[in-house]
Amino acid sequence: MPKPLRIYNTLSRTIEDFKPLHEDKVGMYVCGPTVYNYLHLGNCRTFSSFDIIFRFLTYCGYKVRYVRNITDAGHLEGDRDEGDDKFAKRAKLEQLEPMEIVQKYTQYFHDVMREFNCLPPSIEPTATGHIIEQIELTKQILANGWAYEVEGNIYFDVAKYSQDNNYGVLSNRNLADLLDGTRELGGQDEKHGRLDFALWIKAKPEHLMQWQSPWGMGFPGWHIECSAMSQKYLGQQFDIHGGGMDLIATHHTNEIAQNCACSGTGPARYWMHTNMLTVNGVRMSKSAGNGFLPDELFKGTHPLLEKGYSPMSVRFFMLQSHYRSTLDFSNEALQAAEKGYARLMSAMKLIDTLKTDGDASAYIQELRNKCEFAMCEDFNTPIAIAHLFEGVTFINNVNDGREKISVADKTALKKLFYDFVFDIFGLKEELGSNNETLSDVVKIILEQRADAKARKDFASSDALRDKLLAAGIVIKDSKEGTTFTVVG
Ligand code: AMP
Ligand code: ZN
Repeated sequence: MPKPLRIYNTLSRTIEDFKPLHEDKVGMYVCGPTVYNYLHLGNCRTFSSFDIIFRFLTYCGYKVRYVRNITDAGHLEGDRDEGDDKFAKRAKLEQLEPMEIVQKYTQYFHDVMREFNCLPPSIEPTATGHIIEQIELTKQILANGWAYEVEGNIYFDVAKYSQDNNYGVLSNRNLADLLDGTRELGGQDEKHGRLDFALWIKAKPEHLMQWQSPWGMGFPGWHIECSAMSQKYLGQQFDIHGGGMDLIATHHTNEIAQNCACSGTGPARYWMHTNMLTVNGVRMSKSAGNGFLPDELFKGTHPLLEKGYSPMSVRFFMLQSHYRSTLDFSNEALQAAEKGYARLMSAMKLIDTLKTDGDASAYIQELRNKCEFAMCEDFNTPIAIAHLFEGVTFINNVNDGREKISVADKTALKKLFYDFVFDIFGLKEELGSNNETLSDVVKIILEQRADAKARKDFASSDALRDKLLAAGIVIKDSKEGTTFTVVG
């Protein structure tokens, strides 16, 4: 029997006992990236949070089918069917085919996920690979009478749907409230209602990504892809649906409406949403200009960054806040996380060297129980980490002879740390700035570089910088001196 879990469900706005549909199996769908641009650290926060949820469900004994899609078509700039197609616009800008854009940024996304040590999902379907399924769903919604066609566009009829269903069920807002937040329809609008949204969009002849449909050439609306792909791989109803909180009001609301219009039920029993990564209180996004890229973060090349931070220090930084709390970025917080992560790694290295001449089995079992309990209560990583740090103090005390453990305790302690730190939190050892030998060697090279600069021998100082970079070591000069980060 898998461990009992409690999960905050956005639908009920409470923490509920988790009851999967099929005893020891979990179906989980997470909205993936729109691959028209580099993903930023905010996106990474959401995907890392679900990675930890996936890992912990597995630890609890569930067999998890984790589906995370790739949005590679059909996403317009505005969530309400306004603006240009994100892929077409980017393709024009970079003078590439839209599918070259998709390839390039999917590759980048995968590289970043690997750097952050996020496990690949069980299935990673793409919107363009499921056009037929999206057309079929659209046909069904039309046949059931919940949508209408206007000159090759198919719109979902929210007013009609709302007669029998609560459209704002996920965001807990009534129709009047939701209408307040949208603009009036103008004379040339072909939608019947302000909240209606596109299931299928007629393509102009010059639009590069378009497909044949019963309504002519076009492409799917953004929301229908997730209804189609989740249903295909997880069934009409599954356990967990996730994404960032910004998806609640439109994307996930529309997804529930589409599913209900087809099959009479919403797709998921538990809706989980991660809170936003902010910079000085402002949500990180590409449009706000504060969306620095993972690469910039690792190398310290963005103006907001005092230095570079390694992927595992950043992952550790993210773990220190609960997924439903906002996480505010600051250099101080990242530097504190860097130290915390180094302390944790150092303590873990000590375990093998500890003397065994006592007994602490009850303490170690209690520590595991506390860590598990924190994670079972809506995946509370900051509390679980606080408990692990009690364990770090314990390891240091054993090392100093103030506490005693047995041979079996040592094995149990090591397993506890490996289970939580490596398997559940997905951290891994890094040959980074915290490695003392490497750090000493780099400092020697930096001194030589400083000497070269002092002699105004810039060719030599630049060559040393470039050689370090080629070896995966990025240096950053500032008023306080030169710092380095290992990125390779
Ligand atoms: P997108 O590629 O824009 O479709 O976003 C991919 C995922 O990242 C979605 O689940 C978004 O909700 C999430 N996301 C976007 N911005 C942030 C942010 N600042 N913090 C956390 N998650 C975000
Ligand atoms: Zn989605």
